[in-house]
Amino acid sequence: MTDTLVQVSDEVKQLQRSVLDTSIAVLQRQRRAEQELQQAISLLRATLNASPDGVVAFNLEGKVLASNLNYAQFWRVSSELMRTANAMKIDAHCAAQAVEPENFPRLLPVGNYEAFAEVKLLDGRTLERHICKQLMDDRHIGWVVHWRDITRRLQEEAHRNRMTHILERSLNEIYLFDKETLLFTYANSGALKNLGYDLGSLIQMTPVDIKPEFDEARFRGMLEPLLSGQTDLLIFETVHQRHDQTRYNVQVHLQYDAKDQHPVFMALVLDTTDRKRAEQLIWHQANFDQLTQLPNRTMLQDRMTQEITKAQRNSHKLAVMFIDLDKFKEVNDTLGHGKGDVLLVEAARRIRKCVRAGDTVARMGGDEFVVLLTELRDGRMASDVAQNLLNVLSEVFELQGSQGFVTGSIGITLYPDDALSGDGLLKNADQAMYISKARGRNRYSYFTQELEISAQRRMALVNQLHQALPRNEFSLVYQPIVDFGTGRVLKAEALIRWNHPILGLVSPGEFIPLAEETGMIVEIGDWVFEEAVQQVKRWRENIEPEFQISINKSPVQFSWESKIFKSQPERLGELGLPGRSVILEITEGWLMDSDSRALDILYSYRDAGIQVAIDDFGTGYSSLSYLKRFDIDYLKIDQSFVQNLSPGSSDLALSQAIIAMAHALGLKVVAEGVETEQQRDLLIVAGCDFGQGYLFSKPIPALAFEELLRDPGKLLYVAPA
Ligand code: C2E
Ligand code: CA
Ligand code: CA
Repeated sequence: MTDTLVQVSDEVKQLQRSVLDTSIAVLQRQRRAEQELQQAISLLRATLNASPDGVVAFNLEGKVLASNLNYAQFWRVSSELMRTANAMKIDAHCAAQAVEPENFPRLLPVGNYEAFAEVKLLDGRTLERHICKQLMDDRHIGWVVHWRDITRRLQEEAHRNRMTHILERSLNEIYLFDKETLLFTYANSGALKNLGYDLGSLIQMTPVDIKPEFDEARFRGMLEPLLSGQTDLLIFETVHQRHDQTRYNVQVHLQYDAKDQHPVFMALVLDTTDRKRAEQLIWHQANFDQLTQLPNRTMLQDRMTQEITKAQRNSHKLAVMFIDLDKFKEVNDTLGHGKGDVLLVEAARRIRKCVRAGDTVARMGGDEFVVLLTELRDGRMASDVAQNLLNVLSEVFELQGSQGFVTGSIGITLYPDDALSGDGLLKNADQAMYISKARGRNRYSYFTQELEISAQRRMALVNQLHQALPRNEFSLVYQPIVDFGTGRVLKAEALIRWNHPILGLVSPGEFIPLAEETGMIVEIGDWVFEEAVQQVKRWRENIEPEFQISINKSPVQFSWESKIFKSQPERLGELGLPGRSVILEITEGWLMDSDSRALDILYSYRDAGIQVAIDDFGTGYSSLSYLKRFDIDYLKIDQSFVQNLSPGSSDLALSQAIIAMAHALGLKVVAEGVETEQQRDLLIVAGCDFGQGYLFSKPIPALAFEELLRDPGKLLYVAPA
């Protein structure tokens, strides 16, 4: 019995042990399973947190089962809310952040979902929602929701769209072409439009097909530096040819893009037709005269430089002609600028016709033109051209119903004889042109070395002239004017003398024109007047109460109202001199040129008793009858007539006619430059009233003149029998 009991207790123990073992094993397995579960959960959590998306999982009741960090961040959901809230509450929290909360894709009530939704947030972000069912053994037990922040992607898309739009709409042409085949792979609509191809045709072509200046070898050669990385941008100008074969100027900007699977070249092409046209226009305006379309001064200088180089190489001569139209100002003043312009255009045409195609005709401005004759073997050949020019310019100009008459004054200079530079040649030609003017216009003159010397002397004289008044270098001499009727001398002409310490006596014929050009004549003229009236005052008081002094007055003095002295009649009044003590010698040119002011001035003289003489009569253009309008007292017949007086000469006939007509108009006549007794006698017989000239006396200083007045026997005058 005992044995049996012992046996039973052993079995029980064994059973107990195996039960224990089994439970340990179960426990161990359970623990291992729990560990594995923990591991799986932590892996899942890590995976969730690693996702760029915001992830949240709900069960069907809306309880949050899981979520990741991004989700909490995207929707700013606190861990508190996450723990305690259900899906409906969280939805409300999220919807409040949306731009359109009413359209927020709420999860619950269940069934209200779409697999895909996009939500714009008030803070500018855009989130995209993906949702999927959580199934377990085919049972729907919950939801997993992914939120993705697509803000960046949308921005990039928008940017890309904008760029594409800009490229597409750009007026510039944009092309891509394949690195290997050169075939176009893309062209924007600007390119297609300008070229006149559709994309389908264009992608079967290469850039060479639209660039007539290139063949394939040359084009590939040009791409080399881009391929080798030597440069990343290539800019060049060429022409493109359209489908309809017309061409246009382009500037091409080429780049190479190897980033893509299929490397391409990118070309940005600017149509430069307008720019080229504008450049052309600007260039034209800068180089051509707008009225006549002739080259202007700038262009002329370029041409001269070119032609000088050429002439040097070929040992040819050049001639430069300076042409100035005579009397153009009158056409402008009388017929108006419109017709003046028509004349200039026609003159330009006529000048152009006189020269060869290779020669240059330029307009310097105003009525000045320059002709550049090239490839001359003999400088004198320019004479023929110049004579031709004079002929065509002196022909009548038909100006829209009126007629214009001008002539030309031409100055010619030669390369290399007279000067080697363009500037030097122009200066010479200009000087020579002035000689033509001085010699009476409508002629041509060659530049000479003497001219250059005289030009330099002119410059020196002008400089010295400024000093002459303050240095007291001027003086007056007096030349008697003899009354042919009585033989008496009651008048004298005051003539200025300039005695320069180094240059010596400078003739008024030389310096008066310079003083007129520079305006210095105003001051000088005032000085002469003052000096002369002081003198006549003394002579009237001491020798001859009726004495008159004749004073030359330059036209320039009228236009420049004297700023230094009072008006001449006023000054006479101050000195207590009657107006009659003075005769003013004016030129007929001034009467002709000046406006109605001339009459006023002459009347003011007459009212003051001052007498007026027309100097150098016969050299100008005025007619005697014209002079009738003015209150003139004397005509002075120019010495050029007197010099050639001989019995039966035409000058005698002319002098007789002048004297007769002057008398008929109530004017007295003075003959100038009487040198011989024959001249004197012929003049007296012709009825001339007064004579002046070396025959009677040269112009002499005041003291010498006084002696002459006191002893008239010294006058070489012998009254005719
Ligand atoms: P003009 O007014 O015709 O003066 C007459 C010129 O003829 C003077 O020259 C005189 O010396 C010169 N002459 C007089 N008799 C004879 C003669 O028988 N034979 C020759 N061959 N010549 C004779 P001058 O003094 O050299 O003056 C030249 C010109 O300078 C004057 O010509 C006048 O236009 C101008 N001039 C002289 N003094 C003045 C002045 O004070 N003011 C202005 N504005 N011009 C003046
Ligand atoms: Ca005079
Ligand atoms: Ca004179």
